[in-house]
Amino acid sequence: MRRSSSGGWLCLLAFALVLAALLAAATPASAAPTLPRGRWPLPGSPQVLRGFEPPRTRYGPGHRGVDLAAARGTPVLAAAAGTVSFAGLVAGRGVVVVDHGAVRTTYEPVAAQVGVGQRVGAGDPLGVLGAGGHCARSCLHWGLRAGEDYLDPLLLVGAGGGVRLLAAADRAAVQREAAERARLAAAATAGLGAGWVMGPGGRHGFEDPVPGPITSAFGLRLHPVLHVWKLHDGTDLGAACGTPIRAPAAGRVTGETRSAGYGNRLFLDHGRVDGRQVVTGYNHAAGYVVRPGQRLAKGELLGYVGQTGYATGCHLHLMVWLDGGLTNPMTWFSP
Ligand SMILES: [Zn+2]
Ligand SMILES: [Zn+2]
Repeated sequence: MRRSSSGGWLCLLAFALVLAALLAAATPASAAPTLPRGRWPLPGSPQVLRGFEPPRTRYGPGHRGVDLAAARGTPVLAAAAGTVSFAGLVAGRGVVVVDHGAVRTTYEPVAAQVGVGQRVGAGDPLGVLGAGGHCARSCLHWGLRAGEDYLDPLLLVGAGGGVRLLAAADRAAVQREAAERARLAAAATAGLGAGWVMGPGGRHGFEDPVPGPITSAFGLRLHPVLHVWKLHDGTDLGAACGTPIRAPAAGRVTGETRSAGYGNRLFLDHGRVDGRQVVTGYNHAAGYVVRPGQRLAKGELLGYVGQTGYATGCHLHLMVWLDGGLTNPMTWFSP
């Protein structure tokens, strides 16, 4: 693996640490390329009351959509062209689901004015905002799903530059929420702690887990869909789906999870290496063949490259923590 140039790193880190609190949500990488170009599901540009908080596990806690401020009786509109696949009550709440092919959008609470099988165009009315939502204020809970995964529905409107900036007072609340999400995301990585550190150069006896080239480096990057700067919290190694992922060094499997953003995840604890406590993480895999608690030898097969979660293609999103702090993998895996 190439070593990244270190010239601008301190400056970039200082800048990044400020932004990280605002932007380091649990969703990395880019959105799936198959998303339709969408629009807001309400007239105008609604205010986002609560953002997307992807669950760490399929049934774990989270907010599987976004809440948009709207009064009862407001028309609810199809975010993109598609076919109504559900219109009815779920736990006493009106729900409409529109199938767009690769993804589905969900709307609730809605008093539906459409029926299952009906074709709708972007902006066509689905019904009106009903009662029984989960917001303190009246709101539309808008969701986006790909198979069993939940995605951030703002991805649909972000491409058009339509994401509305919040008023300063609201922004403070959203920033607090984002900081909390970042804290939770850090805690979610098996108590590995927050923080962000540079590692000492050198290979430390670690081999690349897959033979592919670096296709995206660690650091801030402009999100290809949202057009905001986000921390890319690992190194992407391009490799065909099905390519074996091998343990870069001996270690113990400490966790295997699944998330909407990272897809299938696995963590390896390598213990102390050259004076640092080293943990590596593997994301977007098609699947893993090892279990938590299992000890692996260097070079042992742990799983196969895939494109689960938000991935624009087959690759491994490699992550490294040193002494509990997220680090640039290239500073630990450098020649
Ligand atoms: Zn909601
Ligand atoms: Zn990545």
